[in-house]
Amino acid sequence: MKILVLNAGSSSQKSCLYEITDQPPHQPPQPLWEAQIDWTYQPGVAEIKVETHQSQQIKTLPFQERLPVIETLLSTLWSGDSPVISSAAEVDAVGHRVVHGGQHYHDSVRITPEVTAEIDRLSVLAPVHNPVNLEGIRAIETILGEQVPQVAVFDTAFHAQMPDQAAIYPIPYELSQQGIRRYGFHGTSHRYCAERTAEILEQPLSSLRIVTCHLGNGGSLAAIRNGRSVATTMGFTPLDGLMMGTRAGSIDPSILIYLIREAGYSADKLDQILNQASGLLGVSGVSNDMRQIDKAIAEGNPRARLAKAIYMHDLKAFIGAMVAVLGGLEALVFTAGVGENAPQVRAEACEAFGYMGLKLDLDQNNARPRDQVISTEDSTVKVLVVHTQEDWAIARDCWQVLQG
Ligand code: AMP
Repeated sequence: MKILVLNAGSSSQKSCLYEITDQPPHQPPQPLWEAQIDWTYQPGVAEIKVETHQSQQIKTLPFQERLPVIETLLSTLWSGDSPVISSAAEVDAVGHRVVHGGQHYHDSVRITPEVTAEIDRLSVLAPVHNPVNLEGIRAIETILGEQVPQVAVFDTAFHAQMPDQAAIYPIPYELSQQGIRRYGFHGTSHRYCAERTAEILEQPLSSLRIVTCHLGNGGSLAAIRNGRSVATTMGFTPLDGLMMGTRAGSIDPSILIYLIREAGYSADKLDQILNQASGLLGVSGVSNDMRQIDKAIAEGNPRARLAKAIYMHDLKAFIGAMVAVLGGLEALVFTAGVGENAPQVRAEACEAFGYMGLKLDLDQNNARPRDQVISTEDSTVKVLVVHTQEDWAIARDCWQVLQG
């Protein structure tokens, strides 16, 4: 079965084509084709990058609407210099990352008109993401035809069964009943990393209490017991929890009230500040990228040093909270851009948990680990680096949903 994956974000769209012949393994095979659209390359211009086993091509296209650009991208699958299939009819199914699935979707689902209506309805909760996810679903209907099955894989699904005490905010209960609750995000990544951890440790997932740290430009932690998320740091939106690249994470909500009352800030201005001008960028004034922060620290920049110190303080505090919810820990897992590539962040976070017998193997930690244990033999907690594979997790879910 050839499964196309569309992972559409606000500024880019990643796509890949996998071939699955039998029960898919946990670890991904090499995709037949990978492509990416950068919608923000230049105003009115999109950049397309396409990679196959044989070739790599990059081109730019003017764009007013997204559909013709997606059409051009997908046409490289079956036409041009190095096609990987003979026609569009060879695509058997399409899996989509959908950011917000609300309270009702606990698993991935086949897309029907009811499902698209629900994704549309949930756009008020994820205004940057759900509309572009829908656009992708409609583009596939137009380009490949309505007969091709499509599957939605929700970022929120893994957290949808969190216990009420982890999901309900202490606000008037009527507001919770209107849907103002913790949903949690990055669920596909947290679930993949937990399953991969059980595989690497050769232990049943049900026997492990795991904290997964997804530390990228956005960041969240999940506390996982019996293979289920029981607590997570992102909340009603992906703004809650850890300090991130440009997002503030958890701050006292009175700051917003103060800024509205005393400084006349509008909702749009607060949204822009908290989502795009805070976090590492806001504090340092340098960058949202941890590599640039480290460079500025090496050059003696005090605000970059403060930004990193706040980031580490938040990370340790939230890991501690997740461990407390689980009542103990078998595995601490680092993933995504910072989690996979920044040994110093892992080392400092782990040092805080030395009191419970967690011991990092510093050589392993520094040796560009990938999908492996980096704690010492006698550590009471296994520490792992897992390379997150959201696209493959989406393809596997798509296969499973269609097998019924
Ligand atoms: P992601 O959102 O998972 O793609 O992660 C992107 C972020 O990972 C970047 O903004 C950087 O902050 C971070 N990153 C990538 N490579 C490194 C590295 N070698 N050291 C530290 N941070 C890194």
